Amino acid sequence: MDKLDLSIIIPCFNEEDNVQSFYKKVQNVLWGGADRNNINEVYFIFVDDGSKDNTIKEIKKLQANNKNIKLVKFSRNFGKEAAMFAGLRESKSTLTCIMDCDLQDPPELLLEMIEKYKNTKGKLKLITAKRKDRSGDSRFRAFFSEVFYKINNILSPIKLESGVRDFRLIHRDALDCILQMNEYHRFSKAIFEFVGFQKEIVEYDYIDREQGASKWNFIKLFLYAIEGIVSFSTIPLKIITLIGFVIFVISSIYGIHIIIDTLAFGNDVKGYPSIVTLIAFFGGLQIMLLGIIGEYIARIYEQSKNRPHYFIEYIS
Ligand code: UDP
Ligand code: MG
Repeated sequence: MDKLDLSIIIPCFNEEDNVQSFYKKVQNVLWGGADRNNINEVYFIFVDDGSKDNTIKEIKKLQANNKNIKLVKFSRNFGKEAAMFAGLRESKSTLTCIMDCDLQDPPELLLEMIEKYKNTKGKLKLITAKRKDRSGDSRFRAFFSEVFYKINNILSPIKLESGVRDFRLIHRDALDCILQMNEYHRFSKAIFEFVGFQKEIVEYDYIDREQGASKWNFIKLFLYAIEGIVSFSTIPLKIITLIGFVIFVISSIYGIHIIIDTLAFGNDVKGYPSIVTLIAFFGGLQIMLLGIIGEYIARIYEQSKNRPHYFIEYIS
């Protein structure tokens, strides 16, 4: 097999304490093997997603010693999805890999991925890392993550595997397709599934962050989960129609019943509890349904504006 080119994309948001150790560790692991793993050149593409700390300074220190390090600096924080997209666009290599800066994505696994790619003589186009279990997550987060995957896999035609990370090795063929998916609301996990190609998953034990804290909290994760479902499925809209129809039929029958009841036996104001219950029930239901419809309209709105996913201040 020919020598390989590899680009590593690293989205960074306030990672000043991790940049150096990340780079050192990846270099050590990559060049530790006797045959240099058949890799010809390795490019690092750091995407600075509007960091407020010294992340840029740390990346520039690395650039002084290695001409294969690129820095894409965003004009502000646009989110990890945008940062990954920018990095993918910059990659010119046969193989591209996305890794977090906090060393939660073990570089040893990258070697395993490259090994797998070579063993299939390049037939594999997408290799994805998946954590074996949810140790390291709070029970609360683990529970809701599992619920999200269950719901997503019922509602969406794109099935997702629980525990799959953004840590992936992507071949040029798959990458070219991924870059054509230009939607404003990017949900990478599903985009990578959507493009097809021969895929494989490699499992690993979860590792804690090297330095700093995760940028995710429950609200962010909840919004991300909604994003995932409505980006790839319109089934929620169909369920709404069905619920609406069932309620319409039931309330019509109930209405007819009341009319007949009143005509036959008169009306002695006995229905207070049922009225209050019904008002509350329908009130809640309507707000929920409007919310779901609103999510789709919001996407049409965002997409119709056709705004760029991010702005780059400079590339060095
Ligand atoms: N990140 C980013 N933009 C953001 C948030 C995070 O580029 O708005 C980067 C972050 O620097 C890290 C990676 O995305 O390299 C994963 O972030 P984090 O560790 O917070 O997520 P977790 O590992 O908890 O899923
Ligand atoms: Mg992390």
